[in-house]
Amino acid sequence: MLLFTPGPTPVPESVRLAMATPTLHHRTPEFETIFEETRTLLFKLFHSDEVIMMACSGTGAMESAVTNLCHDTLLSVNSGKFGERFGKIALATGLKNDEIKHDWDVPVSVEEILSALKANPAIDAIAIQLSESAGGLRHPVEEIAKAVKALYPHIMMIADGITAVGVEPIDVCNIDCLIAGSQKALMLPPGLAILGLSNGAISKIGKGKGYYLNLASEIKKQKQNTTAYTAATTLIIGLRAILQEIDNVGGIEKLYDETARRAKATRQALEALGLHSYPQSPALSMTTIDSPYAKEIRDILKIDFDVNVAGGQDHLKGKIFRINQMGLIAPYEMVWVVNAVELALAKIGERAFDGTASRVFNEVYFNTILGKN
Ligand SMILES: *Cc1c(COP(=O)(O)O)cnc(C)c1O
Repeated sequence: MLLFTPGPTPVPESVRLAMATPTLHHRTPEFETIFEETRTLLFKLFHSDEVIMMACSGTGAMESAVTNLCHDTLLSVNSGKFGERFGKIALATGLKNDEIKHDWDVPVSVEEILSALKANPAIDAIAIQLSESAGGLRHPVEEIAKAVKALYPHIMMIADGITAVGVEPIDVCNIDCLIAGSQKALMLPPGLAILGLSNGAISKIGKGKGYYLNLASEIKKQKQNTTAYTAATTLIIGLRAILQEIDNVGGIEKLYDETARRAKATRQALEALGLHSYPQSPALSMTTIDSPYAKEIRDILKIDFDVNVAGGQDHLKGKIFRINQMGLIAPYEMVWVVNAVELALAKIGERAFDGTASRVFNEVYFNTILGKN
């Protein structure tokens, strides 16, 4: 079965093998060396002033960011399940939440954020997804962060990059906290989250909030290449291995370039079949299609072609399907997927098969080789 869900994503063989070594004790010089090397590689990926690894899923990092960086009112952007989660975290931890709510295909604008800030001076942090995985939507986070910091430098910008870090370059110069999770773009099993922090964030954190999710305790320890509590040793060994693997196969810029080309080629191939791309501003992390046949297409992909793509949640259940673009994905696998979608449409009786999807995918993906633009 080809796993094409936007998280979890497939783990490359070199990484699986690296994680097959015997368990190391976390309070040893051997593990501290691995930790230090992993930190160095993470700084290259995040470009932030500090990086912290936490043994929890992505939501744990979201909670630690909100509780440590917001002390009064959070402004959250709800264009899907993950944005909604930031608001729920604020309320569950005794903070106030101000929410901008949209349909799951609609990105928030800079103007909406600025007017929400003007209306409520108690807002001291903003939490938003770079890529909202519920509908495959990209929010203009860097533009928002720039505009916010120009007017309100004290407001903390928390960016959920769980389906963005490792997918595309992210300008962190106005972002105080950038969150990543192991099982999405970082191609690892679930259970490890990473936060990139600015110096501004570190000074606001001060002594930190909470106990396990207290970022001050982790910052102090991780600067010394250890963790406050037992480290997720195996996942950190895996993280070092995947970051080394990315370097070995040509570096992160090459991965960004291939991901962008593959996402564009997939979207155009499916649009050429008459399918519709759901989000108004598609993220590169996944290709999201809304179709009355979404459920039938997903079932045929799985049963006839051994391809597992994700469906929708809540009101989008049975209405969309999402094809992962995160990670090291061979283009021939994606050709198989778009071709399978075309065959599925033929089986449903929607459109006669003529090979359009794979032709368009190849033309767009390989356009530089083919000498077009
Ligand atoms: C998956 C995901 C999360 C939640 O991460 P968990 O690891 O499931 O806790 C948060 N934000 C986004 C954008 C995601 O895709």
